[in-house]
Amino acid sequence: MRRSRYTVIVEDGDETYLIYNTLSAAFLKVPGSAVRFLLDDPDWSRPSDDLSPFQRYLHGLGVLVDSELDEGEASRGLLRDHHARQDRMELFLLPHENCNFRCTYCYEAFARNKMEPWVVEAAKQFVLKRSGTLRSLQTSWFGGEPLLGYDVISELSAFFVEVCRQAGVDYQSGITTNGYLLDEDKARHLVRECGVRQFQITLDGPCEQHDRRRHLMGGGGTYERIYRNLRSLKGVEGSFNVLIRVNFDHEVGGAMDDFLSRLRDDFTDDPRFLVHFFPIANLGGDTSDEINDLPLCDANATRVLEYQLLEKAVDHGFRTLTRDQLGPLSSTCYASDPRNIIIGADGTLYKCTVAFDDPRNHVGVIQPDGSLQLDQARFDLWTEHAGASDPHCRSCTLNPTCQGMACPLHRMNTENRACVPMRSDLPRTIRLLARELSKEAERCQSR
Ligand code: SF4
Ligand code: SF4
Repeated sequence: MRRSRYTVIVEDGDETYLIYNTLSAAFLKVPGSAVRFLLDDPDWSRPSDDLSPFQRYLHGLGVLVDSELDEGEASRGLLRDHHARQDRMELFLLPHENCNFRCTYCYEAFARNKMEPWVVEAAKQFVLKRSGTLRSLQTSWFGGEPLLGYDVISELSAFFVEVCRQAGVDYQSGITTNGYLLDEDKARHLVRECGVRQFQITLDGPCEQHDRRRHLMGGGGTYERIYRNLRSLKGVEGSFNVLIRVNFDHEVGGAMDDFLSRLRDDFTDDPRFLVHFFPIANLGGDTSDEINDLPLCDANATRVLEYQLLEKAVDHGFRTLTRDQLGPLSSTCYASDPRNIIIGADGTLYKCTVAFDDPRNHVGVIQPDGSLQLDQARFDLWTEHAGASDPHCRSCTLNPTCQGMACPLHRMNTENRACVPMRSDLPRTIRLLARELSKEAERCQSR
C-alpha cells in the first residue's frame, strides 16, 4: 500500500490538514497526527495486511492505493469509459446567432440570425432518431443571445421534452444568456415547460463598470434591467441553479466590495444562486479595438485577484464553481467529448463555442432528415485525447480533473496544453473548497 499520486495534503492551520484526492474526489479534514506518517515519509508504503483502521479507511477513499495499481491508466480510463457511454449526449443549440448587446470584448461576428425553420425541423428529427439509444439528454441554449430566439427555444423544448418523456430519457437543459430579456414570465416558462435547470447570466461588476463593457447594440446601459431580472428569478418556483458569472479586469476587480455586498444582500438567502469569477480576455472579434482600452490583468494578477474575489464571495455565503471544477473530468471542455455537438442557426455543426469563424470548427452540417454529415478529420481534431501522450499531463496531479483536455482550441493553436487555472495554486483552491463547505455546514445548522 502507498500514497496515491493524486492525493494532495494541504496544511490548514492549527495543526489540521486537508486531504483531497483528484481521482476519487475524496475530501477530508484531519488532525496532523493522523497523516503524520505521510507527511514525514513521501515514499511511505506498507503491506496491506498491516494497516491501522484509519489507514484502511484512507484506502477505501483512494487516498492510499495498492502499490501495483497503475493510477495513470486508471485516470485516463476514466475519460475513455465516460466517452464510451453512448447513452448520454449534450446538444448545444444556437436559436439565434445575433445579439442585442455589443460587449467591448465580444469575439462573435453576428453573421447569422434566428435558427432557420428547416434547421429547427432537422434538430427535432436528430433528437427523435437518437432518443431510442439515450438514457440522458442535456441541451444547452447558447448564442448570440439565445432569448432573441425564444420562440425557437419554446418550440424545440416542447418537442424534446415530449420525445424524451415517451422514450424514458432523462432530459435537462441550461441556458447561457445575457439576461436582458429574461423577465419573470419567460424564466417561469423556461423552468416549467422547457426543462431549464441552469441559468448562466453575466455581470461585469457594478453598474458603472458593467455598462461600459456590456452595452446594447445601439448603445445604452444594461445593468439595471439584468439585475432586476436576476432578482425576479427568485420568485420562480422550481429546482434550478443560477450562476452569476462575474467577468473582471483590473478595474472591475478593484470596485468589487460594494458590488459583492449588494449581491450578498439580494441573493444569499436563495441557495439556487452561485457566483463565480472569470477574467476578461481578448478573444478577437469585431469589437476588439475597444478592448485595447480595457485594463486587462496579466496571468499572475488574474489568479491573485480571482482567489481574492472567490474568498470574499465564499465569506459572504455564496456557493461557487470551485467544487464542480475540481472533481474528476470536471475541467475537460465539452468540445473534447465526442458525444457533444453544436447545431448552428444555419445548420452548420460546431464543436467549440468560441471559434465560430475558424474553419477547423466547421465540423459538418445537419441534414433535413436529422442525420449529421460530419467532416470526421475536423471533428477528431477536437476530441483526440492529446493529454494522454503529453508527458506533463501524464505526471500532473490534476490529470483526472483536466486530462489535458481543458481547451482543445488552445492546444491546436499553440501545440501546447492549456492548464486549468487552479494548477497555479492547487493548495489555495483546496483551502477555498474547505472554506466553502464549512460555510455551507454552518448555514445548514442555522436553518
Ligand atoms: S475548445 Fe477552448 S475555447 Fe473552445 S469551447 Fe472549449 S475551452 Fe472554450
Ligand atoms: S493541461 Fe495542465 S493542468 Fe491539465 S492535466 Fe495537463 S498539465 Fe495538468
